[in-house]
Amino acid sequence: MPVALVTGASRGLGRQIAITLSAHGFSIVLNYMSSEKEADDLVKKLGNGSIAVRADVGDMKQVGKMAEKIDRTFGRLDAIINNAGIAKDNLLLKQNEQEWDIIMRTNLRGCFNVIRSASPVMIQTGGGHIINISSYSGVKGKAGQAAYSASKAALLGLTISAALELSEYNIKVNALLPGYLITEMGMTAQKAAEKAKEESILNTLSQPQEAADFILFLLKTKNITGQVFSLDSRII
Ligand code: NAP
Repeated sequence: MPVALVTGASRGLGRQIAITLSAHGFSIVLNYMSSEKEADDLVKKLGNGSIAVRADVGDMKQVGKMAEKIDRTFGRLDAIINNAGIAKDNLLLKQNEQEWDIIMRTNLRGCFNVIRSASPVMIQTGGGHIINISSYSGVKGKAGQAAYSASKAALLGLTISAALELSEYNIKVNALLPGYLITEMGMTAQKAAEKAKEESILNTLSQPQEAADFILFLLKTKNITGQVFSLDSRII
């Protein structure tokens, strides 16, 4: 049975990705940081031998232990969905160093930590897919989201570099801009949600299920790597 690591899968988009991949035959490594009850409840529903693993993606030691646990439990890893992320919106002139650092540590270094620690497990069974969840803000920027936008833009550089380096191990690396989602993160900025809708050709926001279905499709492909996919109708 193929194994997928989904970071930040206790809530929101990550949760929907975990449910969708599990329904299509993946064992899920459901990573979370604080929402233990949500993670435990979900993993019971998923079946397929899925496990929940608490790890702060920004902490290399914790991520390293998670990778060891994946290796011990399954001995393989077919997909990594780097989904864990935080926003903490603030104006640039009001943002302090601590806020900047925690956003970069989670959204950017978190992805590096996971790729660095978990790719060797993937390599030993012949490769797989890594999908990094970036954001429209990473391409277009957004007032009040300098740190978040910077972290998500940097993820695109990381995605392409990783695609180049890891192709020799048959690992495909792509990035998604999932659109504006009404998750806990999306709900914290009502005005931004309205603006996203106005900017959309179809005048709609996005659905976690559509992103999860796209990920499922991408995991079945063999010839796509180093790409960035935008999943809504805003012009980039
Ligand atoms: P969310 O509802 O706030 O959920 C965030 C998830 O990330 C939670 O499961 C949380 O786990 C986890 N997390 C946060 N910090 C973590 C850490 N240090 N280590 C491990 N897990 C951590 O957010 P979402 O809307 O689903 O967003 C998911 C991803 O999509 C993020 O990368 C976000 O930037 C991106 N995105 C979202 C939108 C949107 O409109 N919502 C748009 C574009 C991109 P705990 O609860 O256990 O802490």
